[in-house]
Order: sequence, then C-alpha cells, then structure tokens
Amino acid sequence: MTTLAGEIQIDDAAFRGQVLGPADADYDVHRRIWNGCFDRQPAAIVRCAGVADVIAAVKFGRSSGIPVAVRSGGHSFPGYSVADDALMIDLSPMKGVRVDPEKRIARVQAGVLLGELDRETQAFGLAVPSGIVTHTGVAGLTLGGGIGWIMRKHGLSVDQLVSVDLVTADGEFVHASEHENADLFWGVRGGGGNFGIATEFEFRCVPLGTQVLAGPIIWPMTQSGEVLRFYRDWIADAPDEVMTIVIHRKAPPLPIIPEELHGQPVVMVVPCWVGDVDAGEAFLKPLREFGPPVADVCVQKPYLAHQAMLDPSFPPGRWYYFKSCDVAELTDEIIDVTVEHSLQIQSPLTSFPIWQMGGAVARVGDGETAFNGRGAGFTYNIGACTAGSEGFEAERDWVRNFWSALEPWHQGVYVNFLGDEGADRIRDAYGADKYDRLQALKRKYDPDNFFRINQNISPA
Ligand SMILES: Cc1cc2nc3c(=O)[nH]c(=O)nc-3n(C[C@H](O)[C@H](O)[C@H](O)COP(=O)(O)OP(=O)(O)OC[C@H]3O[C@@H](n4cnc5c(N)ncnc54)[C@H](O)[C@@H]3O)c2cc1C
Repeated sequence: MTTLAGEIQIDDAAFRGQVLGPADADYDVHRRIWNGCFDRQPAAIVRCAGVADVIAAVKFGRSSGIPVAVRSGGHSFPGYSVADDALMIDLSPMKGVRVDPEKRIARVQAGVLLGELDRETQAFGLAVPSGIVTHTGVAGLTLGGGIGWIMRKHGLSVDQLVSVDLVTADGEFVHASEHENADLFWGVRGGGGNFGIATEFEFRCVPLGTQVLAGPIIWPMTQSGEVLRFYRDWIADAPDEVMTIVIHRKAPPLPIIPEELHGQPVVMVVPCWVGDVDAGEAFLKPLREFGPPVADVCVQKPYLAHQAMLDPSFPPGRWYYFKSCDVAELTDEIIDVTVEHSLQIQSPLTSFPIWQMGGAVARVGDGETAFNGRGAGFTYNIGACTAGSEGFEAERDWVRNFWSALEPWHQGVYVNFLGDEGADRIRDAYGADKYDRLQALKRKYDPDNFFRINQNISPA
C-alpha cells in the first residue's frame, strides 16, 4: 500500500509498474516535467508498465475521486501533465516501438519520445512526421496534431495516424480508426487527451531516406527586416520539399558562429529540404545570395542529426513561457512588429520560432480531423526561456507584449502551443463548428469530464 495525502491508500499490488507517493525516494524525480517553472506535488504517481496498469489507474481515479493528470513526454507548455494533489498517470515507461518495414507501419506506445521513434523508423530509411525537438512525447504531440520539419511534404503526425488504442474514462479499452469508432478517431486527431488515455498509436511511415539538406543560415538581427521581406517573397511559391522555420535569438557561443557575434541578436532562416539535393541547392541559392549571411550551415546531413539540432536550445528544467498565434501572411506591418519586439529579447536563452505552414498540411480537408488551422500561413510560437526564476517575469512580459502587438492579425492558434489561457482560447483554437462537434464527442465518451486537466473541452 502507498499512502496518499490524507487517509486514501492505493494498492501497489494492483499494478505491474511503480506506484510512488510523496514519501518515496523517486517521487521528486518523476513528478518533475520539462518546464522547470512547475513544482507541483501530485498525491501519487502511477508509472504504468502497460495497458492493464492504465485501466487500473483510471478505475482508482474514478473510485477515489482524486483528479487525474496524464503524462507521456511531460512537455505540456502549461504543465498539465502534473497537478497538485492529483493522481499522475505516467505513461513514460511504455517505450515499445515496432516498425514493419514491409508494410511501412509503426506501432508506438504512449511513452515513446520523438527521437526514440525516429531511431527505429530511420533504421529502414522511413519516418513518421513529428516535431522538432527529440525529447517531446509522441502521445501529446500527436493528440494535438503534430507539426514538424517534414509536414509540408508528408503532412501532420495525425495525417499518418492509422489507429489508436485508448482507455476511456470508464476504464474501457477501445480501438479507434477510420473503420471503428470513427467519431472518436476524428476527435483524437487534434482534440488532445479529452476522450481517454491513448496507450498505443499505429502510424503509416513515409519513405524519407536518411539524409536531408538542412540547417541555419544566419544574419545579424539588425538585418531582420530585410531578411524577412526577402524570405517572404522567396518562399511564396516554395515546393512541398522545403519547410522553413525562422528563429530570432541571441547567438549561442557555437563554433559555427563568428565569435564577435556570440551573445549578439541574430535572425536565422532554417530550411529543411527533403528530396533531391541538387534541386534543394538550386532552391536555396537565392536566399544564400541575398545579402551575405554571417554563417551558413545548411548542409546535407542525417535526418536524425537535424531532428536533434534544436534539442540543446530547449533542455528540461529551465523556465519557459509561451504564447502563440497563427497569421495568414507576413505583411510589412507584421514584419515591423516582429523586428521591433525581437530586438527587445533580453535572455540569452530565449529563442522563438516562426513556422512556415502550408503544403501537404493544407491539402487535407479542414473537416477531416479535429486539428484546426490547416489554412494558416505562419505560426508564431513566441517563447521566453530563463535558467530559473531570475529574469523570468520580465521575459514573460516581453512575450505577452509581443503577442498583443500581433493581435490585429491573429488567425487562430495551434492547441498544442496554448498555455493555461481559459475556455475561450480553447474554443478559438478549434473554431465554433469543430468545438461543438468535439463537445458532443466529449459528452459521449467523458460526460463527467473525468479528463479535465488538459486543454479542456467541457461536456457542458
Ligand atoms: C521543447 C518542445 C518542443 C515542441 N515541439 C513541437 C513540435 O515541433 N511540433 C508540435 O506539434 N508540438 C511541439 N511541441 C508541443 C507539444 O506537441 C505539446 O507540448 C505536447 O502536448 C507534448 O506532448 P507530451 O506527451 O510530451 O506532453 P505531456 O505533458 O505528457 O502531455 C501533454 C498533454 O497531453 C495529454 N496527454 C499526454 N499523453 C497522453 C496520452 N497518452 N493520452 C491522453 N492524453 C495524453 C496530457 O494530459 C497533457 O494535457 C513542443 C513542446 C516542447 C516543450
């Protein structure tokens, strides 16, 4: 027996995995999540070894009345994977990945991280579209949609999802696909963890090979206005092979960057070209020839290396704060706002991406999945980062001011980039029609709102 807060006890023998209470040695290790600014104390942590543990944990949550938080990769921006006095259902021990190279199918358990999935698929020159930092969880990322370096060619993570296994709020095991529980399958492709705990995902793998042409091309941030104007026109008719992210930050002290620029504000355009390298080089040429960059490390390299490139910029434990919005295009006004606010970055650790959307993402019908924003031109993910509490508030204010300055052009927001921003913002993220459909689904699968520590779709 592990004693939780008060009199409640949880029967350890009912689980194959570990049950940790505040008195256990590993409790502090496992209650921690990626964003260091959250220091929450759950009543207990159930580290699930398999589906049976997830069912037992849900049933315990139900019978005890203790609220439930679900953790897979632990990368929730607002820290929804842990809550004070809640039961933390931790799927991170569930690490199984099986790739069938003949059928090009990957079966992935909920505790798998993006880099772990990439490692298995790349053994066969395959890939599942995912995100840009390898220690993010496949589960949370996929349930929100999943945007990343190869999405313009191969779509979102949810666009390659074939089926998913879930444990519902009643502790029932269900399988959802186009052919079985199709309504639920629609909802989990963007609707987050509202309908149950996903235990396993089945993805189509895409043939990618093992190499991409990718990496940052860098200019001083004082040139950001010209860079962004050129960039906007250059990518206007970009083929699906290329996806780009623009990053504003203070230059890190890396050997690729001239020493005199270390700590100085820079703007980087980071292309990732999947396809014929010569065609990629030809496409990149005008960008390289427009005003000479101070560094150019866009080279042919292993896909695995590119997937991990941004890992050092977003390590666990630092303090982070994000606010995000989509915009239709990079107008002159939006560029001016971007330059003005980027030049005000204080923290040497702050680094925020502007994502080029479109391509294959935009060619899937808007109503086919719960994911919203297929028509977005660019996604701003304005994020602050500090080593700890020092300077955090000032950097957070910078995020809020920047985001507010973009408000006249906001066009929705990606649900996985939302913070703890309230019910209206969640409704905005889905749009009224999709939200109503998701709400009907929530009433069917979780009428009591058992799964509510999340970007919540209220059944009411
Ligand atoms: C450093 C970093 C980089 C990122 N990069 C990208 C990116 O490139 N592309 C992108 O699309 N997003 C990206 N994101 C956002 C990311 O998709 C979300 O934060 C996502 O929720 C993380 O999933 P997780 O499993 O790691 O997180 P967790 O914190 O474990 O979970 C996040 C949410 O999902 C729910 N959830 C988690 N697992 C399950 C499950 N098995 N069943 C049901 N509900 C569950 C939780 O309840 C929680 O509300 C990034 C986030 C970070 C911190």
